[in-house]
Amino acid sequence: MAEPELVDVVVVGLGVGGEEVAGRLAEAGLSVVGVERDLVGGECPYWGCIPSKMMIRAANALAEARRVDGLAGSAQVRADWAPVAKRIREEATDTWNDRAAVDRFTGKGGRFLRGSGRLDGPGRVRVGDQVFQARHGIVLGTGTRPSIAPIDGLADTPYWTNHQAIEVAELPASLLVLGGGAIGVELAQVFARFGVRVTVLEASGRILALEEPESSEVAAAALRADGVQIATEVKAERIDHDGDTFTVHAGDRSFSADQLLVVTGRRAHLDELGLDTVGIDAGQRYLPVDDRMHVTDGIWAVGDVTGEGAFTHIAMYQASIVVADVLDRVRRAQAGPDASGTASVVGGAMGAASAVGGSMGAAGPSGAAGTVPRADYRALPRVTFTDPEVGAVGLTERQARERGINVQVGFTELSSSTRGWIHKSEPGGFIKVIADADQGVLIGATSVGPAGGEVLSALVVAVHAAVPVSQLRHMIYAYPTFHRAIQSALDDLG
Ligand SMILES: Cc1cc2nc3c(=O)[nH]c(=O)nc-3n(C[C@H](O)[C@H](O)[C@H](O)COP(=O)(O)OP(=O)(O)OC[C@H]3O[C@@H](n4cnc5c(N)ncnc54)[C@H](O)[C@@H]3O)c2cc1C
Repeated sequence: MAEPELVDVVVVGLGVGGEEVAGRLAEAGLSVVGVERDLVGGECPYWGCIPSKMMIRAANALAEARRVDGLAGSAQVRADWAPVAKRIREEATDTWNDRAAVDRFTGKGGRFLRGSGRLDGPGRVRVGDQVFQARHGIVLGTGTRPSIAPIDGLADTPYWTNHQAIEVAELPASLLVLGGGAIGVELAQVFARFGVRVTVLEASGRILALEEPESSEVAAAALRADGVQIATEVKAERIDHDGDTFTVHAGDRSFSADQLLVVTGRRAHLDELGLDTVGIDAGQRYLPVDDRMHVTDGIWAVGDVTGEGAFTHIAMYQASIVVADVLDRVRRAQAGPDASGTASVVGGAMGAASAVGGSMGAAGPSGAAGTVPRADYRALPRVTFTDPEVGAVGLTERQARERGINVQVGFTELSSSTRGWIHKSEPGGFIKVIADADQGVLIGATSVGPAGGEVLSALVVAVHAAVPVSQLRHMIYAYPTFHRAIQSALDDLG
């Protein structure tokens, strides 16, 4: 068996979270091995956020052009997928090639290994025949993969996940989207705007089921206006593919189309990580972490694999905490009795440890022990980039009531604001604010509208900083902006 090679840190999985951690620790002077089995950067740049938002940008341009009629004359629009596919291939993904990302990491001093990493006992990671002993720690940023329900017949069909949907060069004439969550509805609207006959099949009673019911209603109306059929309470039981057509059977209903996109959630694959070799249960849905991303002593997790929210901004937020915490550990190791053995490495890390601490504000002037920031998800923002956008932060009304909070709700339709009325967009939008009446602060809010995700930022600040509602009411909101509707929603709190 190969002798383990001693390094400072091993990062397994270089998606958004892992790449950030590995790069910053390498820049700090640590010897970092970054292990990635697919593409450095992970899901977001190649099959997620970035290419899907490029598609949305293009689809929204079509929708805007179609609004010229009645507002500014008349316009004829001919949709063409070719420039969208080209832009994704050439500008976003380099034809699904990560050489630039690998160079970026190695340019920071990191050592890159293509392969699958797994734990191999305390402090050790195995990649093929190579074994590394991590002096300071191991970071797991292994993300999630599509969660494919074991529906009868599905596995034998050439169905799409988000990968094929993002890589598509020629659109099918018709598409079934199994799953009405954020990814499903975003892609459904895009493809419909490019002329695909789209049907969304959702198992629960409404699309965007995790958001406010009002959000689901507006999103459903918007999708229907684009020609999307929405079928709810569809519990798919069997799926057939006859070579040309997919058919989804659910009770006495069935739905057919040329292609099937399965977006029914995502899950971590913990069973592949060798967790049993360090005494961690691999049967969990996610890797539970504390507020500094510790899985256990010397092992951190970052990003989707933690189950704290499958968003790039969560992965980046957690990555900052991991970096500060690892560097804090290095600093403390240097101060300890066995520091001499690691002097050169730790010496290199120290300057950057200060820089990280300094740049993080809450981490204090030098990342000193006890000042590493703790994760706080109270003001977690999320945006579904449909048109109109559905932005939300913190708790929904239902979540707040389930927690026994003394809830106050304020609501206003965007169309009743001057900007909403001028904009004349159907099916409109709204602002909904959820207050803790006892504390006098907002604990959640939803902003749906043409710029719902941007308007959200003010509400995120309000929830994050627990700004008293009385102060929010006496701010000055620029006229006539979409965000000015926040004031009307606050007035509606009573
Ligand atoms: C269609 C779509 C649209 C999205 N849009 C948005 C959006 O608009 N905004 C947003 O915030 N988020 C969005 N997301 C979510 C976002 O992509 C994820 O939250 C983000 O990629 C999570 O980063 P991560 O580092 O945790 O994991 P990932 O990006 O999944 O990266 C994990 C990496 O680990 C690698 N890996 C796994 N196991 C091993 C192993 N054993 N050894 C070596 N490598 C391994 C994988 O190959 C992968 O590259 C979207 C996702 C999808 C699918």
